[in-house]
Amino acid sequence: MLVLVANLGSTSFKYRLFHMDESGEKVVAKGGYERVTDHAGVIDDALATLQRDGIITSPDEIDAVGFKTVLGKDLSGCVIADQAVIDALDGFAAVAPAHNPPYANGIRQFSQALPKAKLVALFETAFYQWISSASANYAIPKTWRDIGIRRYGFHGASHKFIAERSAELCQREDAAQIARRLYLDGPADISGKPFRVVSCHLGGSSSVTGILNGVAIGTSMGFSPQSGLPQNNRVGELDSGAIPYAMRTLGLSLDEAERQLTKESGLLGLSGVSNDIRDIREAADSGNTDAQLALDSLTYSIRHWIGAFILELGGIDALVFTAGIGENNTDIRAHVCANLEAFGIRLDPSKNASCRATETDISTADSPARIFVIPANEELVLAREVFRKLS
Ligand code: ADP
Repeated sequence: MLVLVANLGSTSFKYRLFHMDESGEKVVAKGGYERVTDHAGVIDDALATLQRDGIITSPDEIDAVGFKTVLGKDLSGCVIADQAVIDALDGFAAVAPAHNPPYANGIRQFSQALPKAKLVALFETAFYQWISSASANYAIPKTWRDIGIRRYGFHGASHKFIAERSAELCQREDAAQIARRLYLDGPADISGKPFRVVSCHLGGSSSVTGILNGVAIGTSMGFSPQSGLPQNNRVGELDSGAIPYAMRTLGLSLDEAERQLTKESGLLGLSGVSNDIRDIREAADSGNTDAQLALDSLTYSIRHWIGAFILELGGIDALVFTAGIGENNTDIRAHVCANLEAFGIRLDPSKNASCRATETDISTADSPARIFVIPANEELVLAREVFRKLS
């Protein structure tokens, strides 16, 4: 099966073409466009390039296209990308303005460019379909809940992959099997002891998710990707009372308050230096206390959520770091794991120091919980889910 994974931004289009079969997967082509003004044009150009390069002889050979859609109104899961998906994306375009419109348009354009291909949407919220009502609901009036305000969670593709991979690495085939088939069969019971994972996706945007027996039980991200941990330039957790107070005191319009919270907050807002952890570290190392505060706040928030999920899970079998920051920043991993021996988390400092972006167990041999670095590969995750759904 040939699966094209389409990564659509408001001004970008990147793609990877995978050959998938029961024995595994292979990337057969990849490409991308920046500063895009005409998405339909670059999609046609990408298909023409694949033909010209001899990867395909006709676009009809592409069996499926996978879309990592973010947030749908009243819709989630791994589903055929039809008009209902477009409507769900449009319904929450105001909540995910950078993501939903490009995907709604992309689905329309691919359905014209590849009329024979199956289009599949994997919502970033899909992994959280089974979290408890207590975890999903905010204490707001019913009228607010009725318009869809609740905790949805994001980075679902990444965390679900961690659910599968951590179970495989811990030889917990029972939990791995549940995680792999989650969008096909839903959650299932485990007969033996539970398998408890806390997954830290730390990148341009970050979240921590608690996973029991292959299924998410809760996550730091809420209604929108503005919540939870400090993000690169988005706010993360914020007391709702702060927004009207800042608007009144600083004389901000709603649009301006929203712009500052989505563009000038997070690690950028705290450090005043950059939204990139490498620049922030460099500034902190040369004595910039605001940059140090940004690093410390990120670490504090990660630990806060790890603690919450250890309690909720009743312990921990694997702590996982993934994505750009989680894979590459040895000091953040070390600070996150500091003094957690009482919870069964023992980091091996030399394994941690030498591990960058490769799958590695960085815990000590006698650590009751494993600590893994597992590289994220969201395109591959998407290709696998599309293949599973259509097989
Ligand atoms: P996105 O969420 O946009 O996909 P990434 O997962 O690539 O982003 O994460 C981006 C963050 O990861 C940035 O803060 C960046 O500094 C950090 N990062 C990426 N690569 C490295 C590296 N080699 N060393 C240190 N930090 C890195």
